[in-house]
Amino acid sequence: MSDEREVLCIRCPKGCRLELKIDEEVIVEGNQCKAGEDHGKQEGREPKRIVPTTVKIKDARWPRLPVRTKESISLDKVKDVMEAVEGFVVEAPIEKGDVVIKDVAGTSVPVIAERDMEKIR
Ligand code: SF4
Repeated sequence: MSDEREVLCIRCPKGCRLELKIDEEVIVEGNQCKAGEDHGKQEGREPKRIVPTTVKIKDARWPRLPVRTKESISLDKVKDVMEAVEGFVVEAPIEKGDVVIKDVAGTSVPVIAERDMEKIR
């Protein structure tokens, strides 16, 4: 039995509403381009997201460093990623793009810094 779902395409600011018919294949309607079809198929098979969060940082001006997963991960792994990052502590200095965690929660995806943070003492 096929599943039907409506999702918003987030590949560009137009935000087309995509209608998905999910069976052995995913049929996408409502897209205005190939990128939207690709997004709809991905959402139908295995929805993925970049996960933004923060980690504690020592010896910096601010107590927390904004970070994110370098690549999109499966939505069903988001909770594992948040648990793995919780309690993680880095030390300043940090540069934007530095790898903070090499392989978060067994996803093979690194977590990277979203901004520079200087050492203050
Ligand atoms: S379907 Fe194409 S045009 Fe529509 S939001 Fe997605 S990327 Fe943009």
